[in-house]
Amino acid sequence: MGETEDERNSQAGQLFENFVQATTCKGTLQAFSILCRQLELNPSDHRGFYSSLKAAVTYWKAKGLWGKLDKRASHKEYSKGKACTDTKCLIIGGGPCGFRIAIELALLGAKVVVIEKRDTFSRNNVLHLWPYTIQDLRDLGAKKFYGKFCAGSIDHISIRQLQLMLLKIALIVGVEVHVSVEFIKLLEPPEDQGTDGPGWRAEVRPADHPVSNYDFDVIIGADGRRSTLDGFRRKEFRGKLAIAITANFVNRNTTAEAKVEEISGVAFIFNQKFFLELKEETGIDLENIVYYKDNTHYFVMTAKKQSLLDKGVILNDYIETERLLASDNVNQEALLSYAREAADFGTNYQLPSLDYAINHYGQPDVAMFDFTCMYASENAALVREKNNHQLLVALVGDSLLEPFWPMGTGCARGFLAAFDTAWMIKGWAQGKGPLDLLSERESIYRLLPQTTAENISKNFEQYTIDPATRYPNLNSTCVRPHQVRHLYINGEQD
Ligand code: FAD
Repeated sequence: MGETEDERNSQAGQLFENFVQATTCKGTLQAFSILCRQLELNPSDHRGFYSSLKAAVTYWKAKGLWGKLDKRASHKEYSKGKACTDTKCLIIGGGPCGFRIAIELALLGAKVVVIEKRDTFSRNNVLHLWPYTIQDLRDLGAKKFYGKFCAGSIDHISIRQLQLMLLKIALIVGVEVHVSVEFIKLLEPPEDQGTDGPGWRAEVRPADHPVSNYDFDVIIGADGRRSTLDGFRRKEFRGKLAIAITANFVNRNTTAEAKVEEISGVAFIFNQKFFLELKEETGIDLENIVYYKDNTHYFVMTAKKQSLLDKGVILNDYIETERLLASDNVNQEALLSYAREAADFGTNYQLPSLDYAINHYGQPDVAMFDFTCMYASENAALVREKNNHQLLVALVGDSLLEPFWPMGTGCARGFLAAFDTAWMIKGWAQGKGPLDLLSERESIYRLLPQTTAENISKNFEQYTIDPATRYPNLNSTCVRPHQVRHLYINGEQD
């Protein structure tokens, strides 16, 4: 009898370990489904799933993770997972910010469904993390999923690795995730069926996916800079022409590679001598360069147009940036050499080989893009009401506020917005009036573009979804309810 139980425990441990160690999106979902099937766990029981999993998987390594997640789940704001029990959320996009808010909403007790149009996590690019984000991820058990996380002085992570770990945590806390499902548009509740009839739904591709029958009362746009949700006006910030190049090289983890020093962006912007020497020696003219050693050797740099023309990377000079950087105006081979030469000089020729990593198109992982214009949504949320059904609509991550990459603000501000939005959804579940809710959300959103790693509260351990724990100068009533009337859109106005 005892032996059988031991065997069962060890099998459960192994199945869970397979899930924890999975290295791809598809592999993770597959391992998760095997785990649920074998242990007879019901993943659609979002409220009870985490406790059932915890009861079934009891080996020491999993226990460490349960300890961390239990601690997180004990925040008073979640009301023991009962703060949002009647709330049903749809999240568009399985990027870092989509998954991050999904986890918070699940901890609040909501039913959460994430749809992601891709089925691979293939972005090698590396994100700089602010200290609070490191603490936040560590508290969610990041190290259990990615042993190298927070090793030494590392304050960065590749997007794919971050997505992978957040996907796993989201699944553990009961989030339902569908990949290869694309959001197309919102569908209004049909007329004359009252509150018992179907509510707000989404048109998705493939059209017959079961998610198309899911009714929700909260929808979150976390689909990146090209946000698809209607109703949000976007502000554009136009700077001087800025052309960025990203390049990823294979990291073979040799001792020689380990010795090469990283280049942290912000400090480097001021090192004029370096840029003059680079220009003199190679003809490459940069405004800044960042190098992070992660799964790949990752470089991102801002290049001056004239040097790209001189080095034959850009063929013809055009005023319109779109035409300037169009693929038929770029010599790909010259671009590969340009980025490699800059990387070589930047690391003092210490990296033994600079072989390009391969991207998801099967090509050398180099990209050149324009970041002259950046977008921010004018508002963070709105409420729609149609045929007796209310819907709370919110944006997070790049959909809300596009980051300026040299400052590494994307993920940090993205997570802050995810927490602020979760706080709003808690208020929504508690029956707070739409105008009060929206005015508070807009007041908090006004702080976001100004947040830096220095001006947020330093007491990371105290961070919760309550904005007061994170922003020292919070004034959550600076926008008044009458100023957000236009964000409450009911059927009659349509
Ligand atoms: P995304 O990561 O863009 O994820 C959106 C997801 O939505 C994607 O998976 C996409 O497939 C999916 N999706 C899109 N449309 C749909 C749809 N219709 N239906 C379903 N799914 C959909 N940030 C930092 O914090 N630090 C840095 O150092 C940093 N460096 C950067 C360097 C460069 C060159 C660039 C370009 C960005 C950098 N960023 C950095 C920004 C960072 O990449 C983003 O802030 C971060 O990835 C945003 O996460 P997100 O979840 O909002 O959006």
